[in-house]
Amino acid sequence: MFKNLFNKAKCKLGFHKGEWQYDQDGDCNQTRICERCEDESTRLSHAWQEWLYDTADACDQTRTCSRCGEHEQKVAHTWGKEQYKNNDSCVQIYCCERCHTEKSGRKVHRKLQWNYTTAANCQQIELCGTCGEQTQKTRLAHDWGDWQYNPNLNTTVRVCRRCGEFLQKGTA
Ligand SMILES: [Zn+2]
Ligand SMILES: [Zn+2]
Ligand SMILES: [Zn+2]
Ligand SMILES: [Zn+2]
Ligand SMILES: [Zn+2]
Repeated sequence: MFKNLFNKAKCKLGFHKGEWQYDQDGDCNQTRICERCEDESTRLSHAWQEWLYDTADACDQTRTCSRCGEHEQKVAHTWGKEQYKNNDSCVQIYCCERCHTEKSGRKVHRKLQWNYTTAANCQQIELCGTCGEQTQKTRLAHDWGDWQYNPNLNTTVRVCRRCGEFLQKGTA
């Protein structure tokens, strides 16, 4: 009695009991009739074979259902190592070892360097010596001379040889 109630509850939740049977040969529709409540369910259940490459030098693959002959297709590349696109580029690419299709990878600058923006000031921008692209980074790079006593100011100062800015000792 209790077992019956329990089984009914399972059926209500969708956990029916019974074997899935193919409706007919050459077709992949399956039907299951529940042994307990006689509820009928259907589903599609293909018997997929392995994925196979369509041609030797391309990456399209096909798999076929051995029952109904339906097929599915996908592309499955074999990506090689990340490498730079060319000598003056910092863009990296992956190349498929089979069909030579490319996909882009990360951009990694190879030769970052600081350059002054103008001759008269000390503002520098960072740019890449390989591809010429600027990063968003800037900095001040003064070309300080030696500390020297300045009698006019009556203190020790040093002066930037590029832009003329000076620092008093003890304030830097
Ligand atoms: Zn059932
Ligand atoms: Zn099928
Ligand atoms: Zn490929
Ligand atoms: Zn670069
Ligand atoms: Zn300066």
